[in-house]
Amino acid sequence: MTASESPPADTSPGSPASGGLLAGRRGLIVGVANKRSLAWGIARRAHSEGAELAFTFQGDALERRVRPLAESIGSAIVEPLDVTDDAQIEAIFSTLAERWGRLDFLVHSVAFANREDLLGRTVDTSRAGFATALDISCYSLIALTRAAEPLMTDGGSVIAMTYYGATKATPNYNVMGIAKAALEASIRYLAVDLGPKNIRVHGISAGPVRTLAASGVSGMRGMLKVMPERAPLGRNITVDDVGATAAYLLSDLSAGTTGGIHFVDAGFNITAMRHPDRAAKGS
Ligand code: NAD
Repeated sequence: MTASESPPADTSPGSPASGGLLAGRRGLIVGVANKRSLAWGIARRAHSEGAELAFTFQGDALERRVRPLAESIGSAIVEPLDVTDDAQIEAIFSTLAERWGRLDFLVHSVAFANREDLLGRTVDTSRAGFATALDISCYSLIALTRAAEPLMTDGGSVIAMTYYGATKATPNYNVMGIAKAALEASIRYLAVDLGPKNIRVHGISAGPVRTLAASGVSGMRGMLKVMPERAPLGRNITVDDVGATAAYLLSDLSAGTTGGIHFVDAGFNITAMRHPDRAAKGS
């Protein structure tokens, strides 16, 4: 068969491309709960770009969902990780050191706040609720990045997931907005610390997507409705949109980029209000 007769490369999700953007790279994905997770959108795309992946799951209930997904794309490393548990953080990175010896990227796609803190007034947030949200949704990025650093011997790339509620007050997002603001600041400080080792750190600020975590934020339906009306691209975003931007940020295509927040929100964040023409058409 001559080159011109070769079948086209299969780049569909789940089919690794040997010449893909992430061929030969190894990455840890933290934050898959099920097939709707943003982390799963990133994992599928990273795999189709040729990456080899390891996964973690939070607790037995999620293991039943995460393990089959990981196995469906040939991942052999699937381990428990609650990010509040330092021993579990140490354990997963020891496994990666033993099995792979190095790591090229880390995807942090984890957030949590108590349900009562995602309703009503931010002023009523308890000290304990604040600490929980900030520990799981922000400090965990620092802890995981620190554990990943010694394995990123040839440089690396770290991604964390954030939301526009970090910079604009958003109904019901409350303490999670505060946690995302701290997460975005952490991304900048980590980027400065690790830049000399060519380890790049990025945030992806995704538009609303119906996931398990998002079901804890009241008013999600309204957020999804306003997007097509106000976002320049006139639509909601998908986990595949997030996966594509992640592939760029994890690859050499973004070699000159670090510390930034990259919006995958159909342009929503650049608008001040709904365009009157859109309003006429949409209503
Ligand atoms: P998801 O429920 O699929 O993922 C959230 C993940 O966080 C789950 O896998 C859960 O197990 C994990 N997690 C929570 N507490 C943990 C802990 N203590 N230890 C380990 N893991 C823990 O929901 P998602 O929407 O895919 O969320 C992923 C990330 O994307 C979050 O940071 C979220 O804030 C962010 N994000 C989501 C949206 C959206 O609309 N869905 C928009 C912007 C940003």
